[in-house]
Parts: sequence; structure tokens; C-alpha cells
Amino acid sequence: MPELPEVEITASLIGAATTGAVIESALAPGLNAVKTFEPPLSSLAGATIAGIRRRGKLFLVDLDAGGPAGPPADLTLVVHLMSAGRLQLFAKRASLKDRTSRVLLRLAGGERELRLREFGTKQRAWVKLMRREAVGDEETLAALGPEAWPQTPDAERLRALLDQPRPLYTLLRDQHVISGIGRSWVDEILHSAKLSPFKRGGDLSSEEAVAIREAIHDRLGGAVEYYEQTLALPIPDKLPLPLTVHRHNGEPCPRCGTTLEAVFYEDYVMCYCPYCQTEGKVLKDRRLSRLLK
Ligand SMILES: [Zn+2]
Repeated sequence: MPELPEVEITASLIGAATTGAVIESALAPGLNAVKTFEPPLSSLAGATIAGIRRRGKLFLVDLDAGGPAGPPADLTLVVHLMSAGRLQLFAKRASLKDRTSRVLLRLAGGERELRLREFGTKQRAWVKLMRREAVGDEETLAALGPEAWPQTPDAERLRALLDQPRPLYTLLRDQHVISGIGRSWVDEILHSAKLSPFKRGGDLSSEEAVAIREAIHDRLGGAVEYYEQTLALPIPDKLPLPLTVHRHNGEPCPRCGTTLEAVFYEDYVMCYCPYCQTEGKVLKDRRLSRLLK
């Protein structure tokens, strides 16, 4: 599932390649993917891509619509990948048989196509086409907490945001608390900060808040930097995530060498180092597992 660093590099690479491009036509093979009706997706024909931004784990594709014939209109396509979506730029247009296609923005002057795809059987990824001035009111965006990166909240602010009787593992992934972190990067951040995923946010000391602030900033920023050095278009379906703890259970901790442990859930896994994070305790208890849902 793409998280802040993956959405950031995608917005950056695809934005650089498509800014200034004119849309020939916009189609939605995923019938339920478009959640707005006015303005219609078809009104994007003739619009120019003004840039692609990221907010949390969402994309904001800014479009200058209108043009010489009509009044200018600043629109934004809000794109939410949910758990299995990808935003990709292709040199050739999608085959009608491509069942992963949800929304297609066909670019004029060639065969290029900006494509929202979704893997798996569920159709949950969505887009909303809105007037740009109304984007801040979109309910998912309006409910997002502060960005985890690059303007990571300072330690005091972070401590206040996390001052709740819920475990850090849950709080850090709650987009209303802080936006951009998901199941992969939360394991890395808590490992870097040497904090137990089960520790309650309200129990954080000032020193621990500083550690978690640094871990958020350095791990997410480090990932973006890694992608900037290693990725180019076309972005692969599966990004090579530079993870050292998440999904590395059974391997030695990169800091102390202790075997990394995991708690398994129905469709994901939480990984941690018992020596660095949980005072030697191995947390496999099902009751603890339920607490983290
Ligand atoms: Zn360790």
C-alpha cells in the first residue's frame, strides 16, 4: 500500500513529466470510481495539467480547464488510492481488457495516458473532480491531521497530538492524528525511535516525543531521498521499499542483531525488535493483537 514516501515520489516524477500536457479525453472504466458529478469528468477534455501535489496519501492533480472558447476554470482531481490503487503514467493507452483501469486521462499529441489502476477484486480507489477552491472542504482532506513530512510537527506538538489512551501503532497510522504513515512505515519509525508499538500515546515522555519526531522525519525523508536516487519513470507496480524491519521478521535486527518478531493479522503483519522496543517481551498474544485493530 503506497504511503507518504511512495505517493510523494509518484507525484513528483509523474508531475514533472505531465505538467503542461493537454488532456484529450478522460474516461472512467471503473464505474464507481468517480464520486462526483459536477463538473463531469468529460469536462477535462482540453484541460491542461498544472501540476500534481500530495496531501497525506492522496494525490491532487491540478487542472486548468476552460480555455479560449469558455471561461477559465481551475479544477483539481483528488485521487485516493485506498489499499490497492496505483497512479501510473503509460506510454501507450490501456487495453480495453485491462481490468485494473479505473480512471484514464489520455494526453493529447501522442499515446500517453495517466492511469488510476487498482489491483485485487475490491473497487475502493476513488477520484473526485472539484473546483480547486473547494478542495479544502473535501471530507477526507478536511479531516487529515498535519503532514508527517516534510514539515514534521515538532516534539511538543507531536506529544499533544498523540496524547490519547491508544497504542502508538494505532495512533501513528490514524490519518486524523498525523497524515501519511501506514503499516509499512510505522514499523520502521517505531523501531528507529526504540519505542514499543503497544506504548500508549498519552504515556510518552518529552524525550520519547523527540525520538519519535526524529524517526518520523528521518525515515520518511530518507525514503523519499532513496526513491529520488533510484526511481525513474515508468514507476513499477511494486515499488522497492527500503524497509529494514517491516516484513523482516525472523531476520536479525539491523541495530542489535536480535531476531525480529511479528504479530500477524488477517491481511498484514506488525514487526518489531524485542530487545530494542519491548524490553525483551515477545508480543504474540491474541488479546494484544485485537487491541491494535
Ligand atoms: Zn534490536
